[in-house]
Amino acid sequence: MSSTRSRSLRDLLRVRPGSKVRLGSIDPAATHGREKAASGAELQAGLDRLTDLQDRVWAEQKHKVLIVLQGIDAAGKDGSVKHVMTAFNPMGCVVTSFKVPTPIELGHDYLWRVHQRVPGKGEIAIFNRSHYEDVLVVRVHDIVPKAVWSRRYDHINAFEELLTSSGTTVLKFFLWIDRDEQRARFQDRLDDPDKRWKFRLGDLEERKLWDDYVAAFEDALGRCSTAAAPWYVIPSNKKWFRNLAIADIVGDTLADLDPRYPPSEEDLTGVVVE
Ligand code: AMP
Ligand code: MG
Repeated sequence: MSSTRSRSLRDLLRVRPGSKVRLGSIDPAATHGREKAASGAELQAGLDRLTDLQDRVWAEQKHKVLIVLQGIDAAGKDGSVKHVMTAFNPMGCVVTSFKVPTPIELGHDYLWRVHQRVPGKGEIAIFNRSHYEDVLVVRVHDIVPKAVWSRRYDHINAFEELLTSSGTTVLKFFLWIDRDEQRARFQDRLDDPDKRWKFRLGDLEERKLWDDYVAAFEDALGRCSTAAAPWYVIPSNKKWFRNLAIADIVGDTLADLDPRYPPSEEDLTGVVVE
């Protein structure tokens, strides 16, 4: 077995705080010693572990977990929710997909809508896009001036510090595909009538801005990966590996919380159901 297997994916794929991220040097097709043939069974085992852990998190009503999914268009954010987060009982799991802000949202600071969706005790919240859009699409399209967006990395670190120091576990996944993979996935969306709803002509315009998005992602990953709220770069050209890696890292993180079924709050000794 390959030596890379001796290190956990959580360790291998985590962005070190303060590091300069160069996505060009990260292979989006990497599989780190995992094999496709074994991936079905491996993923199922990972999902079973997630189901068990979340059941305990929900029962215990103690931990709060926030999972952020980001990635360029067609990187697999929706697919990750569908194939990995499906392990969670919908009770205790909330998915929020952040879209273009509404006028009411725009009337507030950009973290306002985000803060409302963070997890409470016992909950796992999944962000499909997030506050990072405010240093990604907003930066690439000059929706606000540089003087405004450039201060947001500090806001975001402070916001996430507030969450983690209040007992929220935060983990952030950047799904990394290359341009060729995006082309293939867009073409597939165009060709398959059942997937056409996912495609918008505007996606082609965004694709032209690939390099700008890469630069924006590199800054967000490098500046906002902290010990308490780490970013993970998930090689995502291979969907089976993406799913395995996310299930593995979320599973290791939840296992570290050691969630337990709580004892009854009442004295039940000798109680019999008639
Ligand atoms: P989708 O995820 O394909 O449903 O698309 C959601 C769209 O909302 C994407 O084009 C995002 O770039 C956009 N979006 C999300 N958050 C923001 C934001 N804060 N500012 C501007 N656009 C955003
Ligand atoms: Mg889209």
